[in-house]
Amino acid sequence: MTTANTATPNVDPAEIEKFNAMASRWWDPTGDFKPLHEVNPLRVQFIDQYGQGLAGKKVLDVGCGGGLLSEAMARAGAEVTGIDMSPEALGVARLHALESELTIDYQQITAEAFAAEHAGQYDIVTCLEMLEHVPTPASVIRACALLAKPGGKIIFSTLNRTLKAKVLGVYLAEYVLRWLPKGTHDATKFIRPSELIHDADQAGLQAKAMTGIHYNPLTSGFFLSDRNVDVNYILACEKPNE
Ligand code: SAH
Repeated sequence: MTTANTATPNVDPAEIEKFNAMASRWWDPTGDFKPLHEVNPLRVQFIDQYGQGLAGKKVLDVGCGGGLLSEAMARAGAEVTGIDMSPEALGVARLHALESELTIDYQQITAEAFAAEHAGQYDIVTCLEMLEHVPTPASVIRACALLAKPGGKIIFSTLNRTLKAKVLGVYLAEYVLRWLPKGTHDATKFIRPSELIHDADQAGLQAKAMTGIHYNPLTSGFFLSDRNVDVNYILACEKPNE
């Protein structure tokens, strides 16, 4: 129950449960998170390029999970904070950072609550493959915008709400290839690029670049290309200077 003064957190408990249950498999490159492992170097390169170098940057990774992206960005020289609402994923992330001898500040908090304390502090805010798991994505997008410094970069990625994404991203990935556990994605929660750009715009951000994440079944490899954004895509935004 909520009271008049207590805002309902923008969290779907069923989603968090799902990620809690999968947590021990985060760092298995052939397990449940195989696609994220394979896409990771491509997304880090995109963020590094668009963010004009990760080295020395203050970065916030929203919905960091077990820390795949957070660690890669820390390795590239960024000072990284990772936030997530899955305590199990954060536990795995903390242990793995220790093993990797990387210093990353992991915290269990929502983007909205974190933004209330740390507005305007980050050079780069990343929020990858997370928006399709929250009840109100626009609220997370607003929080990310608030957290960035003026002139800061904000990078989102999600799945497009197309038939192709439903077939490739859900049916093929979960039921045929079994890359992901069944039920990982609900295609009705996928987000069209126009909707993401609209929400970013409403949050005061300028959309700057968009690219698609593609899979080539012949080479079994992922690649980035802006030839289409039909399935999985990345949007890079900038917070205007004041
Ligand atoms: N960004 C990571 C992980 C994506 S999986 C990557 O791309 O490698 C989605 C993550 O979002 C999960 O770890 C899940 O626990 C987290 N999540 C879902 N709802 C959330 C919320 N409301 N606040 C913070 N994290 C959330």
